[in-house]
Amino acid sequence: MANNKFKLDRRKFIKTAGLVGGALSLFGAAGAGLAAGKDKDSHTGYGRKFYGEDQFFNRKPFLVDKPTYETIGTPKRIQYIENIFKRNGEMYRLMYPRDKSVPKWSLDQGYETLPEPLKNYYTKDPIAFDEFKKAIKKSEEQHENWPKYKDQYILADAWSTAHSSTMRGRDSFPPEPQDKPEVSDFKGIETEAMELKSPKHGSELIKKIAHSFGATLVGITAVKEEWIYQGYLRGVGKTNFEAPKHWKYAIVIAVPHEWDAMYANPTYGTSYDAYSMLRYISGKLTVFLKEIGYSARAHVPPTSYDIIMPPLAIDAGLGEQGRNGILVTPELGANTRLAAVTTDMPIEPDKPIDIGIKDFCSKCKICADECPSGAISFTDEPEEVIRGFKRWRINHDKCYTVWNSVATSHSRGCRVCLAVCPYSRKNNWIHNIVREVDPRDPTGLFSSGMLAMQKKFFKYHGGQEYLPPPDGNNKTYNEAPDWLRSEEWFNL
Ligand code: SF4
Ligand code: SF4
Repeated sequence: MANNKFKLDRRKFIKTAGLVGGALSLFGAAGAGLAAGKDKDSHTGYGRKFYGEDQFFNRKPFLVDKPTYETIGTPKRIQYIENIFKRNGEMYRLMYPRDKSVPKWSLDQGYETLPEPLKNYYTKDPIAFDEFKKAIKKSEEQHENWPKYKDQYILADAWSTAHSSTMRGRDSFPPEPQDKPEVSDFKGIETEAMELKSPKHGSELIKKIAHSFGATLVGITAVKEEWIYQGYLRGVGKTNFEAPKHWKYAIVIAVPHEWDAMYANPTYGTSYDAYSMLRYISGKLTVFLKEIGYSARAHVPPTSYDIIMPPLAIDAGLGEQGRNGILVTPELGANTRLAAVTTDMPIEPDKPIDIGIKDFCSKCKICADECPSGAISFTDEPEEVIRGFKRWRINHDKCYTVWNSVATSHSRGCRVCLAVCPYSRKNNWIHNIVREVDPRDPTGLFSSGMLAMQKKFFKYHGGQEYLPPPDGNNKTYNEAPDWLRSEEWFNL
């Protein structure tokens, strides 16, 4: 249950829940919910986002002074090499140099011959190296299998590649920083910083501008040093560095994946639709901030970050971390992708919220059941302490192997854990009842009831089924939308 000051007392809640429960059964909630779920007007983030009206959940009753993640001891910064995409990026550059020169390293040389910090990383975790070898093998198999699957998935691949075209090398938008933050974050500023009437005015303005650029959700937080990567800084390279003084605040932006494609994960989904939106929104925001005299650096997916996003978004009050390791928000559930712009504009930060995600995740475990790689923990309570923060364990290496196994030509990945999460639901009346009632429930009864309904009425395949044959059957969570199904448009 949510640990917040706005709680109905137990008797009142049970009365309300009873009424709601009665209403739900009277109207045949399950069937009505499925019908409401098909309504295109309920696609949060694809309708009213330009006016900020998709950030519709009233967070005020759930504001808390401390974020809901638990710290143990003194938190430590994350080494860039701990991020699987940054680590594997380095491995790929050694194995397949961009200039097509002779590879500097090959798998059969073993991790003992890798340059630092890779060698040290895999010496401490040799199982991760075995998983990397497996992922490379799966990727090769997948490319060999592509002719077999091409006709069926060509639309999904074309759609994904079109979105990823905004983030290729030096032509990407926003451009990668080419200098240290003290230089690049101020590059292009030609005016004195405009004096704000108050920090609150600054926050309101910047949120309206971000929404006008297409952000579904926007939150603001002061930047804590523990969220900044260590060991690598964009524009500088490998280095250990202090947090730049002008990274005072982060404007955190969230958008969803297109809903129907997201539900059609893993084989029809992509991350690039949300990534490309985030890049345009945060890129334009950096230009806007510099035009009014403030420093700006965009931290954008897939790997152009100097800061880790989920905890930043938790601090900014957008949501809480789920069992699946993903930020879960009231409006978008786990169908939430993030970017941030760091700035010295003196703006007012938001507070974190507590809507009871941890309690729900403790009993739900749907993502763990459905994960094709077994990467998500099944324990009731978060069991791992990473760099001083307590969370449910995610085995990123196993997850990455599945990303390399599904039937695509461009490693479009998996995302089943986003699609199956009960919080990843559209903006319609039935889910709005759940959104409002569950976080106010001091008993946990409402969420248990909804969870039982969820498991009874929603179809789940079981993790293995999402894999290609012979291990699985290329299942998707939901059927793909017609515009991603090749057979609707082409003579196959
Ligand atoms: S993306 Fe897929 S493999 Fe990875 S954790 Fe989520 S469900 Fe599991
Ligand atoms: S699927 Fe269930 S356990 Fe997993 S993140 Fe969503 S609510 Fe939590």
